[in-house]
Amino acid sequence: MNIHEYQAKQIFAKYGVPTPRGIIANTPSQAMTNAQELGGKIWVVKAQIHAGGRGLGGGVKLAKSLKEVKQLASEILGMTLVTHQTGPEGKLVQKVYIEEGADIVDELYLGVVLDRAREMPVIMASTEGGMAIEDVAHDSPEKIIKVAVDPAIGFQGFHGRELAFGLGLAKEEQGKFIKFAKAVYNLYMENDAEMIEINPLIKTASGDFMALDGKMGFDDSALGRHPDIEDMRDISEEDADEREASRYGLSYISLDGEIGCMVNGAGLAMGTMDTINYMGGTPANFLDVGGSANAETVAKGFEIILKNPKVKAIFVNIFGGIVRCDRIANGILEATKITDVNVPVIVRLDGTNAPEAAEILKNANIPNIIVATDLGDGAAKSVAAAKGK
Ligand code: GDP
Ligand code: MN
Repeated sequence: MNIHEYQAKQIFAKYGVPTPRGIIANTPSQAMTNAQELGGKIWVVKAQIHAGGRGLGGGVKLAKSLKEVKQLASEILGMTLVTHQTGPEGKLVQKVYIEEGADIVDELYLGVVLDRAREMPVIMASTEGGMAIEDVAHDSPEKIIKVAVDPAIGFQGFHGRELAFGLGLAKEEQGKFIKFAKAVYNLYMENDAEMIEINPLIKTASGDFMALDGKMGFDDSALGRHPDIEDMRDISEEDADEREASRYGLSYISLDGEIGCMVNGAGLAMGTMDTINYMGGTPANFLDVGGSANAETVAKGFEIILKNPKVKAIFVNIFGGIVRCDRIANGILEATKITDVNVPVIVRLDGTNAPEAAEILKNANIPNIIVATDLGDGAAKSVAAAKGK
């Protein structure tokens, strides 16, 4: 789960990570009132969407008067902001964060992510703040300092010094920076975050460090022990199809390809996607219908898959263990009655009662249902069907 910048900054503040003062607004006049309350002469109006690159897309603007705050807020609220992370369809801006303007001397980068290969969180820092870290990693990887922290010992002085020296910070800056990085590491761990990105982390004229931006993502499986973070969920920012799927106990992730996949078990789903790729096709989604595939879940699965106009064929690959194949075959037939399935459906059922299932599908004699004998056959037939062959 991801949260908005203003919410990440609320968490930062709790852990003593300095941020500019700011107030969230839903309307232009509220934006102006907020600016008045904050005081000062310069404000920043920031679109709140779950995507980075807002600045370049026109979603972050400086205002030099209260009137301008209102004007900019009215332009940004309701706009569909397109950034390199939103995709071409963009995201609707429903909230703006009004912040006091900061006095930027230098822009740095600080992030924490989980390195699965090392099985440790890794802190990343760079002097190249304010630009996409992906570009820095590509063009000048030596400018990113990475320090892995063993969670068993936590953030120690030597981790901090490695970061501070790597950034080439002046002696009087090092202590402040190390304290900053330590607080960020601690809030990452204590909240079961998966990712934190502060870009830019600025140096101000008074020689302090401040988080000017904040992105956080959390481990969904750990949300149960963080009700305060779960409350920050903004479902309007999440993929509507993925949300609907989760209501029916289906794990669904949408992808870019043409072949809809309906599979039971995450491992088999991954294997199915790999096999489709191997056969020269592209999966349109990951969908795990779980252990209890029945007519209703299969119908729901079809419905969600078919919302994607790119889908040219559906590959149903289900292994009948506890759930018997003949029941699934009947479920598929039921599902095609509930939902209008207008693309070829390739069905591979294996396991308990597989021969009976094949018989049921054959006897139903539905023209767009194609029975496959095994995974390779099913994937090949799906790829061919998606290509109109
Ligand atoms: P992002 O584009 O989604 O990553 O949004 P950011 O919060 O990083 O803002 C984009 C850029 O706007 C930053 O890199 C800064 O250069 C600039 N910016 C943000 N807040 C301020 C501010 O208070 N003062 C000034 N001068 N620039 C700001
Ligand atoms: Mn940023």
